[in-house]
Amino acid sequence: MAARRSGNVQTQRKGGQALCCECGNLKALPRPARASGAERNLPCEVCGQETKHATVVDASVADYREQMNQRRTRLSVPDQIALLRSWGVDVEERGAENDSRGQARIADVRWFSDPDRFEVTTYSGAEGLAETLEKIATMVTDPRGSRWFIERDEGGETCGGCSWVR
Ligand SMILES: [Zn+2]
Repeated sequence: MAARRSGNVQTQRKGGQALCCECGNLKALPRPARASGAERNLPCEVCGQETKHATVVDASVADYREQMNQRRTRLSVPDQIALLRSWGVDVEERGAENDSRGQARIADVRWFSDPDRFEVTTYSGAEGLAETLEKIATMVTDPRGSRWFIERDEGGETCGGCSWVR
């Protein structure tokens, strides 16, 4: 009996849930639902009969799938650099460097406006470089929709590695 109960708990954790559309009772499903909101008829213990149930997807499972999708579609660092260059962006690849606070630099982007021209510097081996390059690609494709920090000279204040030089 005890073994059977623990088996049920395991099944419930791996499975999804379905919400009874009549009484709102949550019913455990033996397998996770593939799509949230899909409806099917299932016996409801509370209603005592077969009722329409809406499937509920476990949020942690959905988040994991989302992460996998992002990993699958994210371009590698060399591919992202090649893409930026194909857009006419001047990309300089440097070795690892620390900023004034001793933190590893990831990448910098500078926007020289009128006419629009972009300079990107990447620091090799920096953690999060692929993610940062995705942000930079967004900034380059829509500079006026992005936030920039004005840098006036070589020693000027910069923030987040993003600067806008006139
Ligand atoms: Zn019910």
